[in-house]
Amino acid sequence: MVKLIPVQKPDQILPKYRNTPIERLFLYHNLREKLPPTSIHAELLIGMCMDNRKDLIIPNEFAYIIRGAGANMHGNEFEISYAIAVGGVSTIALLAHTDCGMSHVSEKRDSFIRGLVERAGYDSDKAAEQFDKYAEIYQIGDPIKFILAETARLQGLYPKILIAPLLYKVEDDQLEQIVEN
Ligand SMILES: [Zn+2]
Repeated sequence: MVKLIPVQKPDQILPKYRNTPIERLFLYHNLREKLPPTSIHAELLIGMCMDNRKDLIIPNEFAYIIRGAGANMHGNEFEISYAIAVGGVSTIALLAHTDCGMSHVSEKRDSFIRGLVERAGYDSDKAAEQFDKYAEIYQIGDPIKFILAETARLQGLYPKILIAPLLYKVEDDQLEQIVEN
């Protein structure tokens, strides 16, 4: 069972996130706490989708952010390790989001090929070849299940790091906590 826990007031933040950068992410983004002019050093690494409907309200210098289709962190291990080892972060927020285009990307073959030909001047055979080569790799299925699997995978790689799977709701721009029980 997967449960979503909203944060409309501070006491809804799960105890395991209290006094961590995840709590501060919720205070800044969901609860609109006044942002400090700077957080001086990075406290958090955020992994999120490239989708244009998402914008985080966080202070300058607060977070490293890795954006990629579907918040798929495969292939970004060096960046993650760098943010931890050199950037000094000990916490990761992995953001799934509602209505993610990568959930069912393999169904978008026709519009992918047509759009790439019309808008970019791409050769249609090359567009088809690119789609057939990558669509399955980028398809994430259910975004929440996917982010939980990514959380578990990264937790295996970085056992001492706190990793929080969260959901960004594009409908109201609020973050929610994803809990598996
Ligand atoms: Zn997405």
